[in-house]
Parts: sequence; C-alpha cells; structure tokens
Amino acid sequence: MNYQAASSLAAAQLGADDKFLAGGQSLLGAIKLGLAEPTGLVDVRRLPELQGISVSGQAVRIGAATTHATVAASAEVRQAIPALADLAGRIGDRQVRNAGTLGGSLANNDPAACYPAATLGLGATIHTSRRTLAADDFFQGLFATALQDGELITAVSFPIPKAAGWQKFKQPASRFSLVGAFVARFDTGVRVAVTGAGPGVFRSSELEAALARDWSPASARSVKVSADGLNTDLHGTAAYRAALISELAARAVASA
Ligand SMILES: Cc1cc2nc3c(=O)[nH]c(=O)nc-3n(C[C@H](O)[C@H](O)[C@H](O)COP(=O)(O)OP(=O)(O)OC[C@H]3O[C@@H](n4cnc5c(N)ncnc54)[C@H](O)[C@@H]3O)c2cc1C
Repeated sequence: MNYQAASSLAAAQLGADDKFLAGGQSLLGAIKLGLAEPTGLVDVRRLPELQGISVSGQAVRIGAATTHATVAASAEVRQAIPALADLAGRIGDRQVRNAGTLGGSLANNDPAACYPAATLGLGATIHTSRRTLAADDFFQGLFATALQDGELITAVSFPIPKAAGWQKFKQPASRFSLVGAFVARFDTGVRVAVTGAGPGVFRSSELEAALARDWSPASARSVKVSADGLNTDLHGTAAYRAALISELAARAVASA
C-alpha cells in the first residue's frame, strides 16, 4: 500500500482506489479487518487548510483535521458551545481523542458516532474542497454521506445556539453511543439529533416540536418515540432504544 502525506490542498488528490487518512482511528482498524482495501493512503492531517478553531459572528468554525482532544480543550468552543466541547471530550478513550479528527468522524458517519449528532443537531455547515453542504443534506444513512469521490472535508461551521446539551448512553465495550441525543435551542426553533438508535443519525421531529413548545426535561420525557425502524441487537431492543431517546433528550435539556 502506498502512503503519501499531502503537501497542499491542491495536491490532496486520490487515485482510483485511494483513501484519505486522518487520525486513522476508524480507517486503520477497517484495513486490519479487511473491511477496506485501499491501494494508497493520502494523509491530510497536517494540511494548513484543515487546521484551527475560530469564532466569527454567530458560528464556531473548526478545521477538519482538529482532534477530538483539541476541541474538548478549546477555550473558544467551551465558551461558545460548551455541549460541543463536552461531546468531543467523551468520545472513545484518550488515544482515540488525541488522534481522531472531526472530519474523519463525519466522513466515516458511523451510525453510533457522536459528532454527526452535534453537526445535525446544531444545523452545521460542512465545508469541502468543492462546496459547502448543510448538515441536513450531508448524512445519508449507514456509513453514507453526500461526499463525492475524492471530496475532502476542510472545516465545519457550527452555529452558536442559545442553549445546547448532549447526553449519550455508552456501550461500555466500545464507548460509542448505544443511544445519544443532542438538543439545541435557537431563536428560530429547536433541533434534536439522535445517534446510535437507527441506521444513521436522524432528527426527531416529535421531540423538536415538544421542546419548541416547552423547553424542559419533562416536555422531552412526555414524548413517546416510536420504535419503528430502530435497531435491535444484543445490546438493546428497538423499544429500549426508543425509551432511551426521550430520556437522554430530557437529560440533555437539563444539562444545557
Ligand atoms: C476504541 C475506539 C472507540 C471510539 N469511540 C468513539 C465514540 O465514543 N464516539 C465517536 O464518535 N467515535 C468513536 N470512535 C471513532 C473515532 O471518533 C474516530 O476518530 C473517527 O471515527 C474517525 O476519525 P479519524 O480522524 O480517525 O479518521 P480516519 O480513520 O483516518 O478516516 C475515517 C474515514 O474518513 C475519511 N476521511 C478522513 N478525513 C477526511 C476528510 N477531512 N475529508 C473526507 N474524508 C475524510 C477516510 O478516508 C476514512 O474513510 C472510536 C474509535 C475507536 C478506535
């Protein structure tokens, strides 16, 4: 397998069966298991265009190569969107947080990953080497996104909410979310994104409507989420996950 560290954004081009490499926390495991067999890896971790955290106007912009640990420790993020820093600080373990990146997490779109919930829950904008994409259009189900072949995420702009909260019920072996809920309140309304419960991250319109009427834990708890289409596996049934969604949304509101 070929390895090449991209020297510039323009040089970050993929051959037919190549893949971008960021923190390697998902991709290297997949290669070891034979689930991915790229011909070459183009390392984008050190590209200047993918670095940095800045707050401007009503958004926090985070470079795609920023590690989870850097987001968790960022004074700007902790000040502007504490729930986002909290989320980053609870991803995986210390090694995963020190190597894994925002862009890698979004491009991978694991159905139980944390960042997709914050990105969808905040209605973020994903900047790529070719265009900008709204979070509502980006996530397309199990490990699927709107990214085209060779398209690189460069940064994500997260709108700053009035209030936001994140809670996950951890699967203790993997530390991924059995279910996770991200809630955010803006002047324009409420957004609720759920991860871990279904084939991909999704918004809960019932919770959004209930919390728009009454932003309180009791209001979230009063919503009976349908188990239709949710996952059942050895860790929990669809009905159990449905019950967790309202409860975690309630706790997320309480923490906001
Ligand atoms: C033990 C363990 C526990 C974990 N626990 C959690 C958890 O609790 N919550 C959670 O959310 N995640 C968890 N993860 C996953 C972790 O967050 C990864 O860091 C993340 O999924 C991938 O980021 P990466 O930078 O390592 O990407 P890589 O593994 O390098 O790449 C992942 C994929 O994204 C592509 N890619 C990378 N960067 C870009 C980019 N800028 N643009 C376009 N495509 C790109 C790659 O080609 C590849 O297909 C865990 C991982 C491990 C190993």
